[in-house]
Amino acid sequence: MTSTLIVGAGSAGCVLAARLSADPGRSVRVFEAGPAFPTMGELPVELLDPSHLPVGPESRLIWRYQANLVRGRLIGGSGAINGSYFVRPPAADFAAWRAVAGPRWSFDAVVPVFCDLEDDEDFGKEPGHGVGGPIPISRTSDPTGFSAEFAQRCTAAGFAAIPDLNTPTGDTDAGFGRVPLAISRDRRAGPAITHLLPALHRTDLTVTGDTMVTRLLLRGTRAIGVEWARGRERGTAYADEVVLCAGAIESAALLIRSGIGPEPLLRSLGVPIVVPAPVGAWCTDHPEIGVEFPAGDPGEPAVPLEYVLEIDDLEVRPYTPMFTPGLRRVGVALMRPESAGELTLVSTDPTVPARIDQRYLRSEKDRARLRAGVALTADLYGRRIGPVDDRWLHANLGTSQHLSGTCRMGPAHDERAVVDENGRVHGIEALTVADLSIVPVPLRRGPQATTVMLAAAIADHMVV
Ligand SMILES: Cc1cc2nc3c(=O)[nH]c(=O)nc-3n(C[C@H](O)[C@H](O)[C@H](O)COP(=O)(O)OP(=O)(O)OC[C@H]3O[C@@H](n4cnc5c(N)ncnc54)[C@H](O)[C@@H]3O)c2cc1C
Repeated sequence: MTSTLIVGAGSAGCVLAARLSADPGRSVRVFEAGPAFPTMGELPVELLDPSHLPVGPESRLIWRYQANLVRGRLIGGSGAINGSYFVRPPAADFAAWRAVAGPRWSFDAVVPVFCDLEDDEDFGKEPGHGVGGPIPISRTSDPTGFSAEFAQRCTAAGFAAIPDLNTPTGDTDAGFGRVPLAISRDRRAGPAITHLLPALHRTDLTVTGDTMVTRLLLRGTRAIGVEWARGRERGTAYADEVVLCAGAIESAALLIRSGIGPEPLLRSLGVPIVVPAPVGAWCTDHPEIGVEFPAGDPGEPAVPLEYVLEIDDLEVRPYTPMFTPGLRRVGVALMRPESAGELTLVSTDPTVPARIDQRYLRSEKDRARLRAGVALTADLYGRRIGPVDDRWLHANLGTSQHLSGTCRMGPAHDERAVVDENGRVHGIEALTVADLSIVPVPLRRGPQATTVMLAAAIADHMVV
């Protein structure tokens, strides 16, 4: 029988599968809802191009939810289609995480895991950085005209340049810097490429694509396997333990469909209650306002984000692509919003998308911060924008695609917690969640680096 069954070969799932399958005597089986291209040569070529985000209306490699929320649906998951921005959160985020979930997630505890994952072309040999790890990190040395102009405008406005956003102390003041990117020789280096594909030769690792896990199989309060669907085919698979790596939306949806969730929701769906749990009751994202300016030449294709400006809880993002012809977009994202969202299901049918009520901008403080960010961006570019009232904010609001926290980590007595500090679901044996859904605090940076770090840390704990 399979030792460990992993649901989802996304950012976290690829790392888990690679690390666990290196453990002698452990057999690992992975089910991925999207295609599992078995070699680099079979990956669609556009996936290797970091200037291309395959998330348009024609894309068959994504899950779609309301309000333009998308996730990757293929090996590598969202990490295979994302902006390649690979940056560690600041030490303050880990202090908050530690306060909720204990010293395992302190800044000092996680830095060695980040270092072990990285092969940083620019800072790798310096203390607090990594060299020789599986994930190549580099920063642009030849920025596009729009990015270079952004950096000049930041300097002219008095902001300091931050040479290394992944600074080993974990503390950076307000300033702008080059984005660390998971890119090697102009090719996207997502988690399938850095972790899963190099491990596929192992006989104890099996990855099955185009197969959606629809429900967990439980014996009492022990996970014993999963039910799956592949086209019209249906089946079951059993394992000693199950690890959910289906992402912040689908891991939560799977738990709820399997009877692990808020009691009123389970009752309304007619799902027998196995363990009441606050699954989906809290989630967070980085709401983003798109400030657009008329501009002429779109310039050469480039990675979407080469520089960012950070001011406390705001991140200003000068995007290199023209999302609307003739208009340049600068994103203003709120990185520690007070307002939190909620995920629920409207049906037990696994093909019906979960409903995510983001509840952005419910707090006056969040609205005020975003207004300040828009004003700062207008000043930076010498433009007049507005009036930036609540209606304007809502009209220009979108997601950064960074949803997290639906299966929040914390001790068993914490009524908001779904999993413990190792991702194990409270009240259920042999069931772990190891993806972005378990992060219990808003992160001040993009979540990709944190996702792979937490997957690596949980895998290492499972192997010991
Ligand atoms: C368009 C876009 C751009 C982004 N850009 C950046 C960026 O530049 N920097 C950054 O830091 N973050 C970025 N993010 C966010 C980041 O990519 C994600 O937060 C991160 O990849 C989440 O990892 P995960 O392992 O939790 O989930 P995912 O990587 O989404 O993996 C989940 C996997 O599980 C599979 N799955 C789901 N349900 C099932 C099921 N029932 N059965 C079987 N398989 C299932 C999915 O198909 C998927 O492969 C971006 C996200 C998107 C969508």
